[in-house]
Amino acid sequence: RERLTSSDLLHNEEDDPKIRPRTFDEFIGQPRARETLAIAIAAAKKRGDALDHILFSGPPGLGKTTLAHIVAREMGVSIRSTSGPVLERPGDLAAQLTALNRGDILFIDEIHRLNPVVEEILYPAMEDCSIDVMIGEGPGARAVQLPLEEFTLIGATTKVGLLGSPLRDRFGFVFRLNLYDTDDLLRIVQRSARVMKTPITDDGAAEIARRSRGTPRIANRLLRRVRDYALVRADGRIDGSIADAALTMLGVDRLGLDELDRRILRVIGEDFGGGPVGVRTIAISVGEEVRTVEEVYEPYLIQIGFIKRTPQGREITEAARRHIEGG
Ligand code: ADP
Repeated sequence: RERLTSSDLLHNEEDDPKIRPRTFDEFIGQPRARETLAIAIAAAKKRGDALDHILFSGPPGLGKTTLAHIVAREMGVSIRSTSGPVLERPGDLAAQLTALNRGDILFIDEIHRLNPVVEEILYPAMEDCSIDVMIGEGPGARAVQLPLEEFTLIGATTKVGLLGSPLRDRFGFVFRLNLYDTDDLLRIVQRSARVMKTPITDDGAAEIARRSRGTPRIANRLLRRVRDYALVRADGRIDGSIADAALTMLGVDRLGLDELDRRILRVIGEDFGGGPVGVRTIAISVGEEVRTVEEVYEPYLIQIGFIKRTPQGREITEAARRHIEGG
């Protein structure tokens, strides 16, 4: 069975560009980030300066990329997008930086995965708008300082803890995006359904919102699947019972947990007597990468009080036990 909620949550190529919010008004939730950025943008525009560098952190699918694009649009500048793992050599980053026009934005997704040699180039770029490039090779090689246009770096990371302080300290703004509450997700589902011209009742939207693990990307993904189901099994209109039937069929339970969540809970609860057990062991037992378990699955399981992180490892809670035993 396909894993609907999380298998490819780390990737965003599947997102529907039509439903991606394009302005702060369309962007739901995260009021602190939205308000702070709106003021910073207005001030930068008044002064005629580039915006200070911005770092967004938080689990995948919460809107980091979306916010970067909104910022570019509101500033009226171009945005170039790349990612940590793609920038293998210093020259790759230098090429991106020198292609920027004044005020433009360079967006680096997964910035915690930058090669350290490449990261070093970023420091003077962020601080003094210049990079040091080596000309020539061997004994005749010399460093030349190359000036850059004033620019804004926007970094996104799922793990801010993996970012060294030399890099972190060079961002003027650091925003931690939190999982969304059900009210915000409800509004996101309703807005997406409107854009997709899909009729949906309040109950239908609420059912999808409750089962989206606090994550807009999942809410939109579930909405698309429920829409298909409603079209084939009913008249196309999504109500509470259609949403429930479709999501249950897809293996998404009442709390939004999928098969892998339940396996993680069973590994800790049954194979390891409730824990504590290390995340590496859990990942091996369920056949997933440590990164996926840590960055995609755990945040929600911790948020709903199903897993506790202790210095010795992960433990499951009584509530989690009741949930897996009850179904
Ligand atoms: P991230 O970069 O954090 O992985 P994205 O910015 O790619 O997440 O967001 C994933 C999708 O979720 C977007 O395409 C967008 O449609 C939707 N989305 C994210 N945040 C919001 C929000 N606050 N309001 C409405 N839709 C959102």
